[in-house]
Amino acid sequence: MKLQGKVALITGADSGIGKATAEIFAREGASVGIIYHSDEQGAQETRRLVEAYGRRALVLQGDVGDSASVARFFERTVAELGVLDVLVNNAGQGMGSKVPVDELEDAQLEKILRVNLMGPVFCARAFIKLRKKHGGKGRIVNISSVAQHLPTPESAPYGMSKAGLGSFTRSLSVELAPHRINVNGIAPGLIQTPMTQKRLDDPKQREQSLEQIPWHRAGQPEEIARLALFLASDDGDYVTGQTWTIDGGLTMNWGGA
Ligand code: NAD
Repeated sequence: MKLQGKVALITGADSGIGKATAEIFAREGASVGIIYHSDEQGAQETRRLVEAYGRRALVLQGDVGDSASVARFFERTVAELGVLDVLVNNAGQGMGSKVPVDELEDAQLEKILRVNLMGPVFCARAFIKLRKKHGGKGRIVNISSVAQHLPTPESAPYGMSKAGLGSFTRSLSVELAPHRINVNGIAPGLIQTPMTQKRLDDPKQREQSLEQIPWHRAGQPEEIARLALFLASDDGDYVTGQTWTIDGGLTMNWGGA
């Protein structure tokens, strides 16, 4: 088992990629702190999946964009599951409906940057303090997006938040190298989760989306979870500062595939 005896905190573990990551981590021996925002039923389902592997799970509700919430996540997880070894910054707001920048409201901009960018910073800050107190080591995995690299017209804040997360991953990897804390990112393409279900259920939007992907299918959350496991385990020990794209060739496609 690749995470035997480890403790992992996964934000947004009630759904999609976070839920699949919690399950695979538990299969590999980890106890899991499950952070959710509003889907308590989803979070309880993840807890059952984790416990089915004989691991411990803790379900906590809160907002990653609120530093007081984040402080509570860490306090409670350490008290109930033990000192954390792995942090997966997965929680995120999607692109939502398209809004050109000149019509963007302050609150919309602030919300996405808070959740997608400041949230991972708040969580990483708490994780680093904890790991430094316990002799260093540990793994941070940031779930970014291909939008880190591609333009997102009329969804500029989403792309900005993920590009910022990529930059944070690079900076932090060097800052934390003396403490042997690995920091990596994953940039998924189109993955079938509640975030994309509406697009995939609409035949026209689905075809438009799949047309751009050389693999001609959406990815599954488990495919991202397997990469997260690699980066969170000793298999990924010599990897830091990278964001790994996993997108069925989407970012390689210049329209000719
Ligand atoms: P999802 O909708 O299933 O999950 C989003 C998660 O974020 C939920 O668990 C929700 O609880 C959590 N969340 C949202 N706001 C929160 C907040 N303020 N505080 C705490 N938690 C909050 O979607 P998903 O596809 O599994 O998304 C997971 C991550 O993957 C996101 O960061 C998303 O940007 C990224 N991503 C997804 C895709 C895709 O195609 N699905 C592509 C690229 C990147």
